[in-house]
Amino acid sequence: MLISAVLPCYNEEENLPPLYERLARVAAAAGGEWEFVFVDDHSTDRTPQVLRELAARDPRVKSVRFSRNFGSHAALAAGMAYCTGDAAVILAADGQDPPEDIPLMTAKWREGFDVVWAVRAGHTDPWYSRLPSMLYWTLLRRLALPNTPPAGADMLLVDRKVMDVVNAITETNSTTLGLILWSGFEQACVNYTKQARMHGRSKWTLGRKIKFAIDSLVSFSYVPIRLMSYLGVAVSTVGFLVAFGLIVQGALHAALPSGWTGVLAVLLVLGGVQMMMLGMLGEYLWRALDETRARPRYIVASTVGVAPKGLGRP
Ligand code: UDP
Ligand code: MG
Repeated sequence: MLISAVLPCYNEEENLPPLYERLARVAAAAGGEWEFVFVDDHSTDRTPQVLRELAARDPRVKSVRFSRNFGSHAALAAGMAYCTGDAAVILAADGQDPPEDIPLMTAKWREGFDVVWAVRAGHTDPWYSRLPSMLYWTLLRRLALPNTPPAGADMLLVDRKVMDVVNAITETNSTTLGLILWSGFEQACVNYTKQARMHGRSKWTLGRKIKFAIDSLVSFSYVPIRLMSYLGVAVSTVGFLVAFGLIVQGALHAALPSGWTGVLAVLLVLGGVQMMMLGMLGEYLWRALDETRARPRYIVASTVGVAPKGLGRP
């Protein structure tokens, strides 16, 4: 049984050597065959050199470098395409997901589970920085993928079967974790405590988080479009009732309400609602357009320890 550790890395030069040592210790204690697949998301620091040095010391270290920064989900997709393990453990390269917890996950996998989520049971982050992530996972669970782990997860183990399914999917504007959840299979959870980052800062900007959240909802849920129809029905029902009331009032010769403030309010509300709805449609529409372009999810510029496989679209 070969276990692959898959690590997306973007400017993680200081974290890689200590993380490699920790992984090697875990692998030695667990026994069996291992490989460590690092996907360098076009780092601009010494990450590629550090990876080459590690690969020269240990043939289990492999790395794939992107031609530009494609984001960590594309890096995960590449990691799953390039690794050869019977199972792969996906973890961050900054030490937030402790490699020491991998044996918990492989134990579940040996019990027969195909996807093992390491769910954050403890935190080192303050609540205000966890709030957006809690909101994201709750919305994803409620609106799109009901099998999402409630507290959310960053580290996970996937069986070869799951990797083969995800590798065959060629969607561009999707999220790799969402595709794994969507694919189903037997899932289990283990608890872990997300650690503080060893060095450097988080690489996720606000803009990226928003794109990621919209991608997840739009790729796996039609609830936003459904909401548009419901809101449309609700607003027009109210409009119809108001019109009907006015007709009845007119018929009874009662004085009709005068002034335009009410009309203005209705116009503004309707205009706002319509613009929001158009925006929602747009989110789906431009993704459809982008998919028809059939561009690869990532481009591999060079590899160490593995043969390049061409573009990120089979
Ligand atoms: N990462 C990546 N490409 C990016 C941003 C991040 O490959 O464009 C990697 C990063 O090196 C790390 C993992 O994805 O291994 C998680 O990123 P980070 O720690 O910055 O995010 P956070 O822990 O704040 O979610
Ligand atoms: Mg991190």
